[in-house]
Amino acid sequence: MSNYYPDAAQQAYPPEHPLNKCKGFVFDVDGVLVRGEEIIPRSPEAIERLRRGGKKVIFISNNSTKSREEYIAKFTRIGIPVTADDLVLSTYATARYVANEKPGAKVYMVGAPGLKRELELAGLELVDDPLVAEYAVVGSAFNGKGQITPENGERITGALRALYHAGAKFVATNPDRIFPAKDGVIPGTGAVIGALSYMVDRQPDAIIGKPSPYIVKIALSRLGLSGSECAIVGDMDTDMLAGQGMDMTTIFVRSGAMSEEKLRSLGVSPSFVFNSVIDILELKSKGAKEQ
Ligand SMILES: [Mg+2]
Repeated sequence: MSNYYPDAAQQAYPPEHPLNKCKGFVFDVDGVLVRGEEIIPRSPEAIERLRRGGKKVIFISNNSTKSREEYIAKFTRIGIPVTADDLVLSTYATARYVANEKPGAKVYMVGAPGLKRELELAGLELVDDPLVAEYAVVGSAFNGKGQITPENGERITGALRALYHAGAKFVATNPDRIFPAKDGVIPGTGAVIGALSYMVDRQPDAIIGKPSPYIVKIALSRLGLSGSECAIVGDMDTDMLAGQGMDMTTIFVRSGAMSEEKLRSLGVSPSFVFNSVIDILELKSKGAKEQ
């Protein structure tokens, strides 16, 4: 093994290393640690070495369909030990945002069982009557094939009524318009946001997932660190923008959905670029670039 710093048990980085100032690392999941069900090589090792070196690590994802309990099982399969406190998913972050704003609020939701679970865990009251709703909370209504799931069949109409008749606040889990599935793209949460926004002629009051700062703020408060003390690691422009918005060191990895060329064509310049997460620990590796 060609460790840049072999004695990782003592310290993740030597003192002069440019990433040494980062006390915490916020990792995106898909395209960074895994690609679908496939583990990106040596990603569990990278996390383990950072932890052993005294770095704080937390994971964020725009996934709007899974609860943290479901993600703990996923991480166990990958070989990265986590507790619920290590995971900030858009389901959980959205529930926490609403519960902070109005504890116990009446919520009419569009979305998957994982979102429902997090809303319940946050002490919110889920209602089936849209006319009594104080919040319409919107996540993806689609399954992996792009079909509207049976439990969401009437819920877009319900959310419309909550917004139109009851004046409910409009909160969405994440802004992703589409989602890459095996056979081609499928609608994302953005399809639900777009439909409702167009119908009621107003934008959501808050969209919690990246690139909005809400989800990153929750991760940083969990770490107990400021943005400038942390790095965000991701494979998309939205990860880099979320990090830049919070004054974080931004690390782009080429292992995910977006090419570096595409990223730069969007005018986004990360602090560092690596081929994959293990290279973060081996700054001398080919392809590492400090901006
Ligand atoms: Mg990603």
